[in-house]
Amino acid sequence: MSNDSNLIIYPLGSEGWIPSNGQETICFAFFKGDEIFILDAGTGIARLMGLRETLFKERWPRIKRAHIFLTHYHLDHCIGLFWASAIFRGIPISVYAPGEVSYGRPALQILDELFRKPYSPRPFDELIEGVQVHDVTPHGLIFGAGGVDFTVSVKLNPEHSDPSVSFRFSNWLAFVTDTPPEKETIEFVKGVKVLLHEAYYDSFDAYRDIDDPLDAHRSGPHTGTFGAGLIAKRAGVGRLVLMHHNPEIPMLEMESAAKNVRDRIGIDCRLARDLEEIVIETT
Ligand SMILES: [Zn+2]
Ligand SMILES: [Zn+2]
Repeated sequence: MSNDSNLIIYPLGSEGWIPSNGQETICFAFFKGDEIFILDAGTGIARLMGLRETLFKERWPRIKRAHIFLTHYHLDHCIGLFWASAIFRGIPISVYAPGEVSYGRPALQILDELFRKPYSPRPFDELIEGVQVHDVTPHGLIFGAGGVDFTVSVKLNPEHSDPSVSFRFSNWLAFVTDTPPEKETIEFVKGVKVLLHEAYYDSFDAYRDIDDPLDAHRSGPHTGTFGAGLIAKRAGVGRLVLMHHNPEIPMLEMESAAKNVRDRIGIDCRLARDLEEIVIETT
């Protein structure tokens, strides 16, 4: 199913907060050329220990660099950095994370605070030898991988319980989690082929009709199913994949909540499940 014109997104962890129901916490991966891109480093990143010996066996030895994008520092999104040196042994690692602009200090300093004695046997830059840490800013980034240049755009999300950021990879993919539904997100994800958006809970109770103001779907630091659905509809995205749901809600309930969004809002919407590949045509 893989060919050069497709990008495959591997959901390694699609659950929020707690690994449960056979799902790990937030981590998605894709390859571009001989580089691997990781979106959040929740417990799902540990799946790579097995995948590098199986599904990724052929391409793993060719990986030149692992690029890890962090939306924020809540542990369900970054605990996997503790294991990264073993998972990517021999592979240089770059980390891109919110810093000065969101937190008033560099990302490296925040990671040093998180991974230091006695919580970690070594400081962060020794825990992952040679790691390069980059603050992300709204200016975004430009990458060249596999002979193709692509842009990574960044949006700041100041309204989560601690600030997070969203990422957009050219027109293929946007990754939005741990934020209430924001009008600005509509512009940020406009026209993207696949939107991975958090749906922490079923918000059908708040839904009146397709013209609901987004503000009517704000409740706390997260987004519900219909907040994500209305953003996807208004942004004209190709496909909405819901993730980072609260594991206290059974998967089957969230499956039917996703179907409800599909039926009411009239968009392609489904729930991410670990290891169910998301194929995006990039040409
Ligand atoms: Zn989270
Ligand atoms: Zn969070």
